[in-house]
Amino acid sequence: MPSLPVSPLPHTPLLASATVPVVSNPATTPTPKPRAKVTIIPELCKGCELCVYACPSGNLTLSPALNSKGYHPAVFSYNGQRGACTACAICYWVCPDMAVSEIRRLKL
Ligand code: SF4
Ligand code: SF4
Repeated sequence: MPSLPVSPLPHTPLLASATVPVVSNPATTPTPKPRAKVTIIPELCKGCELCVYACPSGNLTLSPALNSKGYHPAVFSYNGQRGACTACAICYWVCPDMAVSEIRRLKL
């Protein structure tokens, strides 16, 4: 039976000297302060989720409640899944219905 070629293992000294990225512990990492408050007009929102996916801080989600048109409108939270709102205004620019009415900077 012919023997199969085997790939050599990576050079061990290189592996030993490889740096491992330090992962911060979410339990001990202080929560960043939010820099802004975002206002969304529920009646203008059609729940398309463009802003939800575009927000780099994960500050926007869809509400479980319905608006008068039967859509789940986007709602803002100060500290999202990936950090606090930074007032980047991406949610404002991606919304096709101008439902993001105000991004008010907070005093730090
Ligand atoms: S301003 Fe930026 S960080 Fe804040 S909710 Fe909108 S997209 Fe997210
Ligand atoms: S992008 Fe605009 S319409 Fe779409 S979910 Fe966000 S606020 Fe609502």
